[in-house]
Amino acid sequence: MGKRAIRLGRTMKNKIILLMTALAIAATAAPTIENKYAPDPKIDIRHLALDVTADFEKSAVRGAMTLTFAPIAQPLDELRLDAIDLTLEAVTCSEKLAGYQATDKEIIVTFAKPLPADHETTLTIRYTAQPVKGLYFRTPATGYPAAETHLWTQGESIEARHWYPCPDHPNAKFSSEVTCHVPAGMLVLSNGRKVSETTDPVTALVAVRWLQDKPHANYLLSLVAGYFTMLEDHYRNIPLRFYTPPSDAPQAALSFAPTKPAMEFYEHEIGRPYPWAQYGQVIVRDFTWGGMENTTLATLVDRTLHTADTENITSSEGLVAHELAHQWFGDLVTCKDWSQVWLNEGFATYYSFLFVAQQHGREEMLYNLFGSAQGIFEQSTNQPERAMVFRRYDKPVEQFDYRAYPKGAWTLHMLRCQLGEAVYQRCIKTYLERHAYGTVVTEDLNAIIEELSGRSFDRFFDQWVYHPGMPILEVNSSWDEKTKLAKVSIHQAQAGGNETLFHLPLLLRFKSKDGIVDRHVEITKASEDFYVPLAQSPDIVRVDPE
Ligand SMILES: [Zn+2]
Repeated sequence: MGKRAIRLGRTMKNKIILLMTALAIAATAAPTIENKYAPDPKIDIRHLALDVTADFEKSAVRGAMTLTFAPIAQPLDELRLDAIDLTLEAVTCSEKLAGYQATDKEIIVTFAKPLPADHETTLTIRYTAQPVKGLYFRTPATGYPAAETHLWTQGESIEARHWYPCPDHPNAKFSSEVTCHVPAGMLVLSNGRKVSETTDPVTALVAVRWLQDKPHANYLLSLVAGYFTMLEDHYRNIPLRFYTPPSDAPQAALSFAPTKPAMEFYEHEIGRPYPWAQYGQVIVRDFTWGGMENTTLATLVDRTLHTADTENITSSEGLVAHELAHQWFGDLVTCKDWSQVWLNEGFATYYSFLFVAQQHGREEMLYNLFGSAQGIFEQSTNQPERAMVFRRYDKPVEQFDYRAYPKGAWTLHMLRCQLGEAVYQRCIKTYLERHAYGTVVTEDLNAIIEELSGRSFDRFFDQWVYHPGMPILEVNSSWDEKTKLAKVSIHQAQAGGNETLFHLPLLLRFKSKDGIVDRHVEITKASEDFYVPLAQSPDIVRVDPE
């Protein structure tokens, strides 16, 4: 506790502010909202190539997006891509086109004849954009020092469509490349690894090309370009880099420091090596979230930076650990749609707690879990009850609330406690191996747990994940000196009667001068009495001591 307790408290507060923003949006949602499901994939996307020239003076981009794909199972007569406020210049294709049009939210390309199933096709859309979302310029024209001019992007959840046309749903995963043309002296950062850098003799612009050769989801595509300074390290053969605007360079080292130990811890805890070619983190101005886990290149908010003078009251450890955990949970395996986003955020939250436990001891993790629980209690009382897997949201951002983060983390902690560490770890390793570079839903995790533990967790997932709410236990205890029995009465007091009863294991702890007596019980009914023989009257009765 002590100093570090305060540190983690700050990280928590940042998260809660984000949650409250999401809740405010939820509260204004329209009354008629339909269930949301992943769209029909229709096409197998093999590669997305983006070529972008940034105009830092006009805060605009000129781009060409080339998609390589093949129709799945049946002929395809038109292709719809998400695109908002893009100005179309030209559409070209390896097949003959009947035409194309742009609506306020899509680009619709119609083929002269339906494309046969499995027929690999290449389509290029040239466009310009002055994005108000998705891509953000920080330039002298917008009040920033010229020496720190930069741009950054944010895809999650559905912002990428504001700066390039794309299949903007997490159930499509594909390799990608980004080429960006910038004035000499600027850095260009993107996903994967840098494969080339050339200077155009006519324009004098430098073209930097990055390739992510492993499949990832569209919302994880990132572009950052501008003036940055860099720190470098490595873990095994994996390059680790940390970029900041030049004036922040003196504060970079303290925030970079947790990266290597966190990566080493995760490889050991998860049992699967870091899944990508390298790992970079970049600090940008006015980032809208705490951090964003783009594959191989996380974006971090600049307020995480601090000096040695404040290292005792602040830390980047929680944020760095959270974003790095996402490289496995969210990036290697990705929620199939936003109803399942707890599979991204719950894991990233919980694994940052596990890292904290390894760094500072189990008490520190329990303190994090305690803080998380307080967050759940506070947040869940002021809004309509929603299950973690919930489809009737208006905008995906509503899903990024206390359910995805702290309740998701708690759900994994309960699983780990009930399965035991060794079985839990085997389940998670298998979950990542079986679904590597693919998408997941909660049932994928449930099925592997049942297969490897020999126990059914259908009820567990039903009550904690597919239904809203939580048990509220009223506990009374008494001592009968004649029979030497402690009586503990437990009543489930949550609203909803029999429909919302929980089954859960619970530890009762009795403390007296002679020591501690523990008794494991299973709560299954609305009201139950448990009798425990003890040598003498207990001084303290604890329910769920951890
Ligand atoms: Zn996250």
